[in-house]
Amino acid sequence: MENYSSLLEKQKLFFHSDKTKDIKFRLDALKALQESVKQNEQPLMDALKADLNKSEFDSYTTEIMIVLEEIKFTIKHLQSWAKPHKVKTPITHIGSTSYIYPEPYGAALIIAPWNYPFQLAVAPLIGAIAAGNCAVIKPSELTPTTSALFARMMSDIFPEEYIAVVQGGVETSQALLAEKFDYIFFTGSVPVGRIIMEAAAKNLIPVTLELGGKSPCIVHHDANLKLAAKRIAWGKYVNAGQTCVAPDYLYLHKEIKQEFITLFREAIIELYGNNPLKNPEFTRIVSVKHFERLRSFLDNGELTIGGNYNSDNLMIEPTVLLNINWEDPIMQDEIFGPILPVMEYSQLDEVISGIDHHPKPLALYLFTESDNVQERVLESIAFGGGCINDTVYHLGSPHLPFGGVGSSGIGAYHGKGSFDTFSHEKSILKQSTRFDLPFRYPNVKDGLKKVKKFIK
Ligand code: NAD
Repeated sequence: MENYSSLLEKQKLFFHSDKTKDIKFRLDALKALQESVKQNEQPLMDALKADLNKSEFDSYTTEIMIVLEEIKFTIKHLQSWAKPHKVKTPITHIGSTSYIYPEPYGAALIIAPWNYPFQLAVAPLIGAIAAGNCAVIKPSELTPTTSALFARMMSDIFPEEYIAVVQGGVETSQALLAEKFDYIFFTGSVPVGRIIMEAAAKNLIPVTLELGGKSPCIVHHDANLKLAAKRIAWGKYVNAGQTCVAPDYLYLHKEIKQEFITLFREAIIELYGNNPLKNPEFTRIVSVKHFERLRSFLDNGELTIGGNYNSDNLMIEPTVLLNINWEDPIMQDEIFGPILPVMEYSQLDEVISGIDHHPKPLALYLFTESDNVQERVLESIAFGGGCINDTVYHLGSPHLPFGGVGSSGIGAYHGKGSFDTFSHEKSILKQSTRFDLPFRYPNVKDGLKKVKKFIK
């Protein structure tokens, strides 16, 4: 097994030089990163095309633009986020003042998945840099072209004692996990999330786990069905469904089922054409293993839209399966592909209890015009985050920390959330030496009485 202890040692040494704690140093690093992304726009789009057949439009909007927006937002706010901030002091601490000093952890390990191979490696890195850390990033082995380009981009602008990219698969990841990093930020599947947390526990390393799961999408009878159809089709089929927050399955109200399916069929044609398998812009499935796993679901329930695939280029067309229930194989795990199973309901209670009996989802989407239904669902179901009358869009806002809950993840990031994730909040009390409250000490006459009177 490879050994990364000398790399980590170099990073720790660099971190202790205190260079990364300087705000100007961090801003310069973010600007260098920004410039590098801009310079490499075309090579990045080419690499994403080679790895996943992503269209330039998708590559730009879901990978490059998100990263550039995040850098811009971070550069704008970093000064104020990084300042120690004063907080209130209770009367019991009279004479002193209280502060929170955001402090970088040190050397962070970032492990990224393949589905948005550039964005999901860089977005956490922005937080790590902003907070003043060094970082080692392990991008996915399943998207080798993008990962290699990303490694070149980083080594062109950063020395490895500050930011290093280590390419490789599971073994590399495990070798890195054996080291005593100061923070681990992992994006990936639930089973691997468990392995990461176990490895981190050995050295008591704090973790953020950005995981996945089955994200429900509910369409109530009073929804704007045409818009719902288009927004769900987009959120589900962008990146061929290989999106952690894609609607995994649909809960359709019985009354509007037929009408919605008709509109959904039209929405798919509008977005991806009559024959998506011939659409040169449609993303492919990342590997044969994932392709075969997805193909095995096609006989679940009743096929109503799509169902065709091309084993040569690993493409599966947008597909909808009706008459699905929780026992079907497709409902056992996150789908992560362009197949949408549909369950029906007549009472909202059925939906709430169905979802509540399963692991807490990463995202939830609800389409309804009713405020009461919205509040009911938001109050009764725990999930990471989501949208009312839209899908996936919440992920792009720097004001909404993004993450899961329960088995869909621990912690959150984006915007200030990223800075906070990679910072330890050091609480400091600055005490006055002008006087000394006597009754805090045990030798005061009637001390207990006085203390009780004071705090009344
Ligand atoms: P994965 O868990 O298989 O792999 C993620 C990373 O972990 C890769 O870099 C891989 O090399 C490494 N890895 C794999 N097995 C490992 C092991 N045994 N020990 C140590 N490291 C290991 O995930 P994936 O297939 O690349 O990505 C898809 C999953 O990621 C889906 O479940 C999806 O929901 C989730 N995801 C979550 C988010 C989010 O932000 N919450 C975003 C994208 C993807």
